[in-house]
Amino acid sequence: MTTQSERNNTRPLIGIDVGGTKIEAVLVTGDGTIEHAVRIPTRRGAAHVVEDVCAIARDVAGGRPRDVAAVGIGIPGQVDPGTGRIANLVNLDIETLELGRLVADELGIPVHVENDVNAAAVGAAHLLTGTDGTADASDGTVALLNFGTGLASGIIIDGVIRHGASGAAGEIGHIPIDPNRFDCPCGQRGCLETVCSGPGVARLWPAGGHDAMTDLIIHAAQGEPDACRALGIVRHAIGDVIQIIAQTLDPRLIILTGGMTRTGEPLLRVIREELETRESVCPFLAGLRFADRLRLAPANEPIGALGAALAVYARSR
Ligand SMILES: [Zn+2]
Repeated sequence: MTTQSERNNTRPLIGIDVGGTKIEAVLVTGDGTIEHAVRIPTRRGAAHVVEDVCAIARDVAGGRPRDVAAVGIGIPGQVDPGTGRIANLVNLDIETLELGRLVADELGIPVHVENDVNAAAVGAAHLLTGTDGTADASDGTVALLNFGTGLASGIIIDGVIRHGASGAAGEIGHIPIDPNRFDCPCGQRGCLETVCSGPGVARLWPAGGHDAMTDLIIHAAQGEPDACRALGIVRHAIGDVIQIIAQTLDPRLIILTGGMTRTGEPLLRVIREELETRESVCPFLAGLRFADRLRLAPANEPIGALGAALAVYARSR
């Protein structure tokens, strides 16, 4: 990530977030301000994804994509940011795809492809800058926890996305430590993702409808034993997730996002209670004040698309 003054001298960027149900694009100025946003439904299959990404890029740039400096794309699955190649995107029926190269050839401008959770981390960190007294998103360590269809984290250290040796840095969803030992599709048992993700909560609280987390918190607050038990499982797993991230990286901000966090403030209260319980028996933990570092990602902001655009800079240092 470049400094604010460096960015002011750059041309606009296009950021595109390819999700399971929608593709969202933004036109972003050099200082990270969103000028224009467009959204279309996602179509499955490699050819459709390339076609739709190019079409939405042209659309959001007012038909003049060559006036922008670069396109950043955030997409789930295994992403090689060096080559723009993606793999194993099961939800979109894609085994492998040279997404970056194909879109760059078609539009005639540089393209950077990033994992969607990493992109969301960059976008959310940009929007939350200043909420903890910092002046710049490139300052220190920021972690984003995505409680969505799966559970994963994005890690930014001094403005640079940390991918690790094989791109698996932050893949915390498949750490198998949940004591309930539910089977995970990955082959292990007790992965944090089995209880600490949208589908995980829906399985524990099937009566909860499309927003199981909110419904679960409401019923637990009314003292229903089944709800209290299910919430206890989720709460404990979230506590573990936060401790793993916080004690390994010691980030200044821990940003929470994903469908499971739509509940907002009531979920944050549940998490704070869990952390307080843990801190009450451990002065070491209490001294680290993890609860003070928690933030909900800004709701209704296209953090994935914004972050995909800004990630063009975030990988360049
Ligand atoms: Zn697993």
